[in-house]
Amino acid sequence: MKRVLLYGVGVIIVLVALVAIGLRVPAIQDVVLERGVNAVVSSDQIDLSDPDSLTLIFCGTGGPFPDPERAGPCTLVAAGGRVFLVDSGTGGAQRLQQLRVPMERLEAVLYTHLHSDHIAGLGDVALNSWAGGRKEPLTLYGPPGVEGLANGTFDAFGIDSKSRIDHHGEEVFEPQAQVIKSAAFLVPSRDDTVTVIEEGDLKITAFKVDHVPLENAYGYRIEFKDRTVVFSGDTVRDQNMVRFGADADVMVHEVMGMANIHAIIGALRGNGQSTTAKILTDASEVHTSPVDAAEIANEANASLLIYNHIVPPMPLGVMEDIFMRGVSDVRSEGVVIGFDGLRVRLPAGSDEIAYGRL
Ligand SMILES: [Zn+2]
Ligand SMILES: [Zn+2]
Repeated sequence: MKRVLLYGVGVIIVLVALVAIGLRVPAIQDVVLERGVNAVVSSDQIDLSDPDSLTLIFCGTGGPFPDPERAGPCTLVAAGGRVFLVDSGTGGAQRLQQLRVPMERLEAVLYTHLHSDHIAGLGDVALNSWAGGRKEPLTLYGPPGVEGLANGTFDAFGIDSKSRIDHHGEEVFEPQAQVIKSAAFLVPSRDDTVTVIEEGDLKITAFKVDHVPLENAYGYRIEFKDRTVVFSGDTVRDQNMVRFGADADVMVHEVMGMANIHAIIGALRGNGQSTTAKILTDASEVHTSPVDAAEIANEANASLLIYNHIVPPMPLGVMEDIFMRGVSDVRSEGVVIGFDGLRVRLPAGSDEIAYGRL
């Protein structure tokens, strides 16, 4: 028995050694490369054309912190074949490419507010969707200030855009699609909603949330046929999420892991990094804890709560346990920690909420 085992181990070592040596042979490297590339290129892209469902694809579930697991805030919404992004955080466009999500149908970005972590990826979103076959201008909806974002981005990428057209031709990069239009709107008060889009089975409304010192931070309610998703944007615990998010199938709520951030603040102070500690302390006052978000989702009668804008990053497994402390006491089911690559599908005419990793 011992002999057989030793023999088996020996065979495995020889095989591993042969593979390792083989991978150094150029001809074998070429074959491995060709097969690998073919597998990626021939794999199906995600289909966003379903006329009968509301679908979310999370292309960024982090915040402003560098996080190898999470791009900046970015969620793709496909509603009966129409495609939008909610925010265009850093790295979101690359995440969509990585997930093989086609972007030619992208028509607009809905901005919750104009903090850098929510807007910084716009240049890549505009270029990648254009390169991916978008034929119409991209429209930016959001609070006053999106005009500057649209015009400034268009200008900043002007030389790049021209070089794409010159290099690849107008059939590939159609000139009219490089235009970035803005549609700024003001939600007059906390009691108001503004209808951003109402066409056919799709209705998108915006409402105010509390993210001081910003005057205009919005949540969005997106309804398609009989399915509803509500986004909090960045906010403290806010009753407007209950009021305007009522009975949503899915509530996408921002969160800050308060115990985790306080541990980081303490460590920074202990190391004399008081400026960063102050910035994080200020930040911790304008976000929502996971327990508070769970209570808001309960009050709003949301079926599924997805934590989004997860700050700070959680490189240690224990941080996720600490992040979730107390949540199951207030909401025992229907809670998901959002992650890049999470897809949620809501077929119209049913209560089904199908979700999983792309
Ligand atoms: Zn943010
Ligand atoms: Zn913010």
